[in-house]
Amino acid sequence: MAIGIKVTQWYKNSGRDLPWRETKNPYLIWIAEVILQQTRIEQGIQYYYRFIERFPDVFSLSSAPLDDVLKQWEGLGYYSRARNLHAAAKTLAEELGGKFPTTHTELIRLKGIGPYTARAISSFAFGEATGVVDGNVLRVASRILGDHSPINEQKYRKNFQAAVDSWVQGVDPRAFNHGMMDLGSTVCTPTKPACMICPVEADCVARQEGLEAILPIKSKKLKRKVRFFNFYIYKNEQAEIAIQQRPLEGLWGGLWEIPNEEIPHPQWEKQEAGSEANFQFSFKHVFTHFDMMGNVFEASSPNHANSPSYTYISTDKIPIFAFSKAVLKIFHRLGIL
Ligand code: SF4
Repeated sequence: MAIGIKVTQWYKNSGRDLPWRETKNPYLIWIAEVILQQTRIEQGIQYYYRFIERFPDVFSLSSAPLDDVLKQWEGLGYYSRARNLHAAAKTLAEELGGKFPTTHTELIRLKGIGPYTARAISSFAFGEATGVVDGNVLRVASRILGDHSPINEQKYRKNFQAAVDSWVQGVDPRAFNHGMMDLGSTVCTPTKPACMICPVEADCVARQEGLEAILPIKSKKLKRKVRFFNFYIYKNEQAEIAIQQRPLEGLWGGLWEIPNEEIPHPQWEKQEAGSEANFQFSFKHVFTHFDMMGNVFEASSPNHANSPSYTYISTDKIPIFAFSKAVLKIFHRLGIL
């Protein structure tokens, strides 16, 4: 029996029930897939329900102010995802009458929709016979094929994609792709895969050759970059704090923040050591591509405090604005949220 049939049958008996799997609505599938990138399922489910309650379709999302969309996204990180969702919703509503393209080659033209998301929407919503290859599926494919190419290098991805594309032919694409993802999450796990209960055990080269613990191969990551920032709590006479909105492009684009500046490492360390009377605490925040080290100060600098770019708000208004996780962390540590 072919791999595609085995995975599909296994999914029908043993697959996971997840809320976005009950629908063929491309909008709901799109939202779920974007939220779940870089997010654990348990956390993602809560955001998914909140997001689709506030923006139930592409028209409500496209007509909402970006600030509202970012507020719904607050705490999830990778805010370019929210900005891109908003931009693509505008294209869908205003240029395509709210109708989603049905193939991954057309979907990929929308802002923020990459190869994975395009295939997920076309396969789950429209039944296109294309492989949906995430990190879990890459691991399963690497083991089934006995392929020693590093799965984290882009140039080898097309081989894995081609293999999964060949397995999905002639079977139900939704069931097959969900099945591959579930196999990776529950059976073909990173360590100690449960090969004895795996539906493709007989087809798996890694299993036949005892390579389950060796595959997949990942090439070594480069050393992480560290960047250093000072954050300032500026208060006016009414004890309101200064905030400002970031430009739309770049890190935390469109979010609100407290005044801050990136500084060289030696200067940052000197301040952390307490040379400034108003130093509060240091903290670390982890991004995908770098680690951020932050010093927090409370200050009333006339120069900065009078900056016209600042908006002053009382601390009870903090929940109205969308802040990054790092800034929310500061508010929590200071006990003002
Ligand atoms: S047989 Fe084992 S290693 Fe191979 S796909 Fe199944 S669980 Fe993974």
